[in-house]
Amino acid sequence: MSDRAQPVKVTARVSAVHDDIVTIRLLKNGEGEFYPVTKNEVVLICPQRAQADFAEKLQAEVLRVRYGEADVQVFENTRGVAVGDAVEQSGQMLSVALGPGLLGQVYDGLQNPLELIAGQHGFFLPRGLAVDGIDNQQRWSFVPKVKIGAKVKAGDLLGTVQEGRFEHRILAPFNMRGKAEVSWVQEGSFSVTTPVLRLSGEDGREREVSMQQHWPVRIPVNRDLLREGYSERLFPSQPLLTSIRLIDTFFPVARGGTACIPGPFGAGKTVLQSLISRYSDVDIVVIVACGERAGEVVETITEFPNTPDPRGGTLMDRTVIICNTSSMPVAAREASIYTGITISEYYRQMGYNVLLIADSTSRWAQAMRETSGRLEEIPGEEAFPAYLESSIRALYERAGVVRTNDGREGSLTLIGTVSPAGGNFEEPVTQATLRTVKTFLGLSADRAYKRAYPAVDPLISWSRYLDQLGDWFEQELEPGWTDRVRDLLKLLKQGEAVQQMMEVTGEEGVTLEDYLTWQKAQCLDQVYLQQDAFDPVDVSTPIQRQRELLALLVTCLSQLPPLRDKAEARDYFVSLTGLLRNLNYSRQDSPDYRGYLEQIEQLRKGA
Ligand code: ADP
Repeated sequence: MSDRAQPVKVTARVSAVHDDIVTIRLLKNGEGEFYPVTKNEVVLICPQRAQADFAEKLQAEVLRVRYGEADVQVFENTRGVAVGDAVEQSGQMLSVALGPGLLGQVYDGLQNPLELIAGQHGFFLPRGLAVDGIDNQQRWSFVPKVKIGAKVKAGDLLGTVQEGRFEHRILAPFNMRGKAEVSWVQEGSFSVTTPVLRLSGEDGREREVSMQQHWPVRIPVNRDLLREGYSERLFPSQPLLTSIRLIDTFFPVARGGTACIPGPFGAGKTVLQSLISRYSDVDIVVIVACGERAGEVVETITEFPNTPDPRGGTLMDRTVIICNTSSMPVAAREASIYTGITISEYYRQMGYNVLLIADSTSRWAQAMRETSGRLEEIPGEEAFPAYLESSIRALYERAGVVRTNDGREGSLTLIGTVSPAGGNFEEPVTQATLRTVKTFLGLSADRAYKRAYPAVDPLISWSRYLDQLGDWFEQELEPGWTDRVRDLLKLLKQGEAVQQMMEVTGEEGVTLEDYLTWQKAQCLDQVYLQQDAFDPVDVSTPIQRQRELLALLVTCLSQLPPLRDKAEARDYFVSLTGLLRNLNYSRQDSPDYRGYLEQIEQLRKGA
């Protein structure tokens, strides 16, 4: 049994079962009072008639408390659960273990390590079994950063551990109140559950601290730290550089910001997410895959560990994956996003830049809808609960930049995908998400069909960070950057208008000037927006190379040689686009690269 949910005693009995919602009737204590139970507390249901070869305890979370009764959602299949079955209270909220050893893990929504389970029990976890989120056999070399007598408060640095290529910072328990004095500390190699430090609080009580702490997933890790002013929220002031030109230049996402990718099936959502997780300038990536088909999950688990990281090693060394298949109960699916965000916040609190990719938040919202339906709550739009929007907002609000207790800056960027049924963006989850996030990367089936990858439609996408991070762009790239980008977006719109006209009238029906506008927009699209994920050079364009390419492109488009008619214009743009694309495929400053620059110069001079 995991130490996440230590049973206390039988305090209730099952009184009704409705799929994964179980009603429990509370028992009375010696004084004739009902045992207290709190919302979001974890209880364990012990089915008496189940036929497992171990005592099954099914984890469930209290959703609603009534007089003498509570409704709980069970994170597992409720087969065999019967009226009268014993219920034990854990006295804890749904929590995750935080400590060294998280990186590289693949977990289910309740932080059960899937690979370990796969080794022991075949691919899926037998019901009623929980495994420690962090292996407590493994030893980590703890180096204290505080001495006996030091005064510390929640979130202060206590020591460090080398976790792969990262310095894992062991922080004072996030729920500690006031100041405490270090009364004992030891250095050496220990498991995550071994006490390494003792803290004596202002109330005189001693507390043992190990390298691991538990935190309830529905509460932000830094809630108390922010409230007490130990840690501080900062405005995002830098972009998350993805090396994808279309994103960084046109629809930037801030480090510590939020973005949404909606995608019809086959529009390149998977490829785009994997590019973002591979090339973004972040330290740690957390991927929540909720409600995937079981086969895709297995694929992720077996393929991802072998994907090379552009910075060396494999991607998995700095990644945590939370995955749930659609065959798992909805409650576990709903929990997985919170498990993912809590782990992300934990690394942010150490001062790291973390990227969380949640795929897809629609499935998470659907899980919420199912649960709400079973609780017979008053439904809102399309039967989603009335609190859908506030839940989505509360989730994205956990992203952000923080200054940690010791003055480091950490960030958590949250990119969520939505999968609107039939590509209908009007549905409630997409709408609520769009009102919350600050970047929208609208993948389009139409562009994917034309193989214009990444198939993000520049005419429907937007980013509020283009303005918000304006200072950064102007200082780090060049003055006038945002205006230039806006002009180019305008060009794309004008090009589209001409295109529509030409679809009706043909090329002959538009003026040479309009035709040139269309050609310029096409060139911008093909050279800059489109980027080949399967070419070793083009796959990733560092921001300074983006700046150079954009400057070159703007010069080429704004200073055309004399073009007398459409045929001449067409030939010119075919050559120009071809050369610029070849430039994209060449390593910067290689002989090829310089050769293409030369040829572009000659073409422009009409040589
Ligand atoms: P989805 O996850 O939306 O169903 P995928 O991400 O699997 O779609 O993409 C479908 C196919 O489109 C890929 O197998 C690939 O051939 C192509 N594709 C997607 N994105 C790109 C890209 N950025 N560059 C090149 N090809 C791409």
